[in-house]
Amino acid sequence: MSSIQHNLQKIRQRIYLAAKQCGRDPEEITLVAVSKSKPTGAIKEAIATGQLAFGENYVQEGVAKITALTTLPGIQWHFIGPLQANKSRLVAEHFNWCHTVDSQKIAQRLSDQRPIILPPLNVLIQINISNENSKSGIMLDALHILAQKVSELPRLHLRGLMAIPAPEDDYQLQLEACQMTTNTFHHLKQYYPEVDTLSLGMSKDMEAAITAGSTMLRIGTAVFGVRDYVSNTQ
Ligand SMILES: *Cc1c(COP(=O)(O)O)cnc(C)c1O
Repeated sequence: MSSIQHNLQKIRQRIYLAAKQCGRDPEEITLVAVSKSKPTGAIKEAIATGQLAFGENYVQEGVAKITALTTLPGIQWHFIGPLQANKSRLVAEHFNWCHTVDSQKIAQRLSDQRPIILPPLNVLIQINISNENSKSGIMLDALHILAQKVSELPRLHLRGLMAIPAPEDDYQLQLEACQMTTNTFHHLKQYYPEVDTLSLGMSKDMEAAITAGSTMLRIGTAVFGVRDYVSNTQ
């Protein structure tokens, strides 16, 4: 077994245990393997263990991998990076999900650009829960207007929220940040019954995220190992 396959097995075990410990069904938690900076060979190894959902941060890099792997059916591609308006078309044309919608302008473009032969793009609104620590995501007071906009756009399917809490080593503090997001998620669900997805939790805070109620984990390092580049170029 390769180390990627071994890592995936360990993560699935961690998800199972964390879910059981707080009385949740592990089946309601989707693992998105974050493959940014990793080659298609690594993705194929993960696919060989049954992993189907992959996350990419950089538009061109993601599209290159999606194109290289199109012959493998059933794979779901999640765009999880900051999205500039001039890259929205590539996301609309190639990905199944976009986790980082944070403006009406981006939402409108994604809907306009989503090819008619594809199902509506699954959209998560990224909220900024750690305020000054992150430039991405909308503030909570702007959420409802954006949610309404996304829900009205014909080629988008509003699925829920995404958040990246500020990095924190202490479990209790991780849990508090995650719970804030969960509260907002439950509030949104009351207005939009189609909302079913909370994208929350990375390699270092996945247990806290599961305990708080995450339904979708984005795990990179714990699946593929440390990344050997940090890139901001798109
Ligand atoms: C890189 C990244 C991840 C994965 O982070 P790890 O700590 O490697 O698990 C998750 N979400 C987003 C938005 C990322 O950019």
